[in-house]
This record gives sequence, structure tokens and C-alpha cells, in this order.
Amino acid sequence: MTKFSIEMLPAKHGDALWIEYADGDRTRRISIDGGPIQAYEAFEACMARLPDDDKRVELLVISHVDTDHIEGMIRMMARPRGSWPISPADIWFNGYRHIGPRDDLGGREGEMISALIHARVDQSWNKAFHGEAVVVEAGTALPQVTLAGGMTLTLLSPDREKLDRLAVKWKDNLKKFTMTVGDLEEAWRQLAALPRFKLDQESTLGSEDIGEALRELLKGQDGSDANGSSIAFLARCNGKSCLFLADAHIDLINESLAKLVAKEGRQLKVDAVKVSHHGSKNNLDARFFDLVDAKHYLISTNGDQHEHPDKPAMEAIIAGSKRKPVLWFNYRSDHTLPYEEQSKLAGARFTTRYPREGKEGIVIRL
Ligand SMILES: [Zn+2]
Repeated sequence: MTKFSIEMLPAKHGDALWIEYADGDRTRRISIDGGPIQAYEAFEACMARLPDDDKRVELLVISHVDTDHIEGMIRMMARPRGSWPISPADIWFNGYRHIGPRDDLGGREGEMISALIHARVDQSWNKAFHGEAVVVEAGTALPQVTLAGGMTLTLLSPDREKLDRLAVKWKDNLKKFTMTVGDLEEAWRQLAALPRFKLDQESTLGSEDIGEALRELLKGQDGSDANGSSIAFLARCNGKSCLFLADAHIDLINESLAKLVAKEGRQLKVDAVKVSHHGSKNNLDARFFDLVDAKHYLISTNGDQHEHPDKPAMEAIIAGSKRKPVLWFNYRSDHTLPYEEQSKLAGARFTTRYPREGKEGIVIRL
């Protein structure tokens, strides 16, 4: 049995991560993000593998409101509660009710998923945080949560400042959709009007095209402040560990990691890092490599839309890593394959892993 495995599902330009960890003979699971709507089929197929008598997922995380992370989750939760392919014990998502003064909040997808969580599983919303925000509070220790089976999560991001910045952007975004903050009924109405989410339909497999006009509308979020609000954490279990960084900002990640390092030693040694923001050069810096010593670097993207990963970010990993790093990609694409060739050159300081020819998605067993 795998002690700790991470599946990077083929989530196009987004993230959809499926984690399994051993608890004795039992397998426990964490689901982080659902990718954009175009990747929903792969996410659904992954969930459909669960045995009929065990659909339990210890934790479901919606890291932030950007469409490449949230749409698949909206689609899954739009199914009638009784036919969800998974049964999450806790759901971490920072919605309007968590982010500060009610009047200052918004964000269309954020409102939609809020309406769904509220209607379907309100009692499980941010349960480990007693229904409050999933947030690192200034001047306090990093929140630590232990899931069933001994998986320990140490929260690194977001903090209040990042959430406040998001709040302003959400409010702007809602104006475009004639929605008001906290009006979950209106959010529900708009959700129901979007056929791609198939609200309350039982059968969900099978994709359909989203019109260009709608696709344009979905780009409403300001990436930067939304990314900054990402829920990111260190996960440790069975002597293995991984940093799940979503699309988090590196300044806050470093600040949180420095707190851990101050407590635990000169450097934080982890097995793996799910690299922030699909390997963008804007979400990594040299300080990160002073704080962290990792072997495996996971990059989730097919390179669509933003041409991730950025070469400078890959070079930073190769140059900054103390150990010879392994770069893991969930797609063989024009944007990821050049690293395979380079890794085979004499004197290359890194190795690479890809899906097999013709395949998408990859599993990392720690
Ligand atoms: Zn993203």
C-alpha cells in the first residue's frame, strides 16, 4: 500500500490533485481543487474509482476562486448531494462569510460555490477551523490540523492581508454579473442558468463546449490577488511530506516557512513540492530554496493560456535545489517536453518524469 501518493490529474492549465495515504490497511484521501470545467471528465473519472462502500474523503480543499481550480468543484457539487461521487468530511474554502466585512466581498464563482456548500454540506464547511476562515493569523503559530489516519497539515497561506486584497477584487467582479455579496439565492439562480455545471443532474460524464463569449466572462478574476488568497499547506504523514502551494504568493509562503524553520532546524526538509502557480516565474524566489530542501518538484499544467511553466522558474529549481531534483509533469506538451531533452544532456543536474506517450496525468508515490 502506498504510504503517501499524489496524483496530478490532467487538469489542463489548472490544478486537480488527488492524494492518498495509508492508515494501517485503510486508504484515506484528500482532494485539492477540481481544475477548469474542460478537465472535469478526468476529475469525475478519478472519483468514480472509489469503491461503493467507501466514498469518504478526509478533506476537500478549494484553494482559491480562480476558474482553473474551482470550476470542476462547482460542477461536482452541482450534482444532487445524494449522488456526489465522494463524501468529504471537511471542506476548506474561504467564502464571503470568512473574509471580512460582508459588504466588501464577492466573486461570482466564489458566490456559486458558497451557495452550493451552504445548501449541501454547510456543517462541513471549514470544520477544522470551527466554520471560520482558513487563515494564518498574524502573531500566532501556524494552524496545525491532524486528519484521521495521522495526516498532519500545517497551514502556510493565506493570511488576513491576502484575503482583504481578494475582497476588493471580488466586489468588482460581482458588479459585472449583477450579483450582490452574500445573495446565495441569486448565485444559485445564475449557477442554474449555466448548463456546463449541470445543476441537480445525476449523470455528469461527457463534456460539452463552452461558448467563447462565456469563456470570456469567466476570466473576471484578477489572478494576482486571487492567487494570493490560496490555501497552501505542508502535509506530513507516514514519515513523508509535501508542500502543496496552490497558486500562493511566495512572500507569504516564505514568511510561514521561516516560522517552521525557526522551530524545526536550519532548513525544512520535505520529499516534494507542488510548485506554486503551475511553475510561474512570479511565484518562486531564491529565498524559498534557502528555507526548503526538497527532492521532487511537481508541475501541474499543459502550458495552455499562460505558457507555464516558465523557464526561469525551472532553472531556479535546478540551481536552487540542494539535492539533484526530479521534475514531475502531468502533461507531455511543447511547454514541458524541452526539459526531458535537457535532462539527458551530459552533466545535467536534474531528472524528469512524464506521463507515458499518449497519456495525461501522473502519480507520484513518496
Ligand atoms: Zn492556477
